[in-house]
Amino acid sequence: MKRDYYEVLGVERTSDATRIKKAFRRIALAHHPDQNPDDPEAAQIFREASEAYEVLGDTEKRDLYDRYGHEGVEGRVQTAGADLHDIFSHFGDFFGDLFGGGPFQKARKGRDLRVRLDVPFAEVLTGAERSISLRRHRPCQPCGATGSETKQGPEACGMCSGTGQVVQRQGLFVMSTTCPRCEGAGGVIKDPCSACDGAGAVVQAGDLMIQVPAGVSSGLQVRLRGEGDQSNPQLPPGDLLVVFRVEDAPEPWVRDGADLHQPLPLDLPTAVLGGDVEIEGLDGPVVLSVPPGTGEGTVLPLRDLGLPHPAGHRGDLLAHVQLQVPRPVEGEARELWQALKNQQGETG
Ligand SMILES: [Zn+2]
Ligand SMILES: [Zn+2]
Repeated sequence: MKRDYYEVLGVERTSDATRIKKAFRRIALAHHPDQNPDDPEAAQIFREASEAYEVLGDTEKRDLYDRYGHEGVEGRVQTAGADLHDIFSHFGDFFGDLFGGGPFQKARKGRDLRVRLDVPFAEVLTGAERSISLRRHRPCQPCGATGSETKQGPEACGMCSGTGQVVQRQGLFVMSTTCPRCEGAGGVIKDPCSACDGAGAVVQAGDLMIQVPAGVSSGLQVRLRGEGDQSNPQLPPGDLLVVFRVEDAPEPWVRDGADLHQPLPLDLPTAVLGGDVEIEGLDGPVVLSVPPGTGEGTVLPLRDLGLPHPAGHRGDLLAHVQLQVPRPVEGEARELWQALKNQQGETG
């Protein structure tokens, strides 16, 4: 005699479509023949649940079943007595969705990881190769990522029949709560793998070489495909996002992308008459030619002497003129300034 479909899925007669679909997903996951090869009992539970879902997941068939029981849908259930292959093709997309990347997440790959890499200023100029230590999830080898010592994977929880929910009656009320035994997972691992404690994945520490690009600036992100977590061997690993944080330029430089700004203290005679001054550049001292009549705040550029630009060329070194006014002068110097002032009085 056939079991009641509601009982098979472990749902109430009043359960809505979402609830029924969810219950079927849980059972199908725990008993899917791909997960339980050569297990006739799992195949039978899977078959039974598929048949129940075909009826209860369809408004018209469910209505007939509610009114007339099994007789009401007799001959209308395609999966009844069908082989597993036919059941798969009947549910089509449902199983694609269910087993394409885990039933309760849309994941198509492992989790992405993110690391921050601190870069000293000196490496901005040259770029660098740095080794970092990472702790990443990898499928557990001893149990083949099943989480169980015998590689059987989870068995449907006996308390909730794999639905993850238990129904309790309190007087007139029917309450559905998370199954206390499997904590809603639907499946329980009876013989947890000793290497991974039933998780199916282990954390592995390892080193990875990271290329620090020349011209790197704070906030730059580099995605290394396939260097993230992998818990499920059926799915490709996630990515590793490296976020760079670069040390500020040392005094007297202020960085703006590939350009470097620096103050240029300038004595008044050179500002007035012009001349060459030496300043400290990134690659050593450079001579800067100051044109006659250079005023306060004038920006004197040294082209291509800044930082490397990620695109290839170099930025500029930009000197900002700061006029140095001499302190009160005495003696000969004072006479010269006085003569200069007198002359300006005459000509001005
Ligand atoms: Zn349970
Ligand atoms: Zn394991």
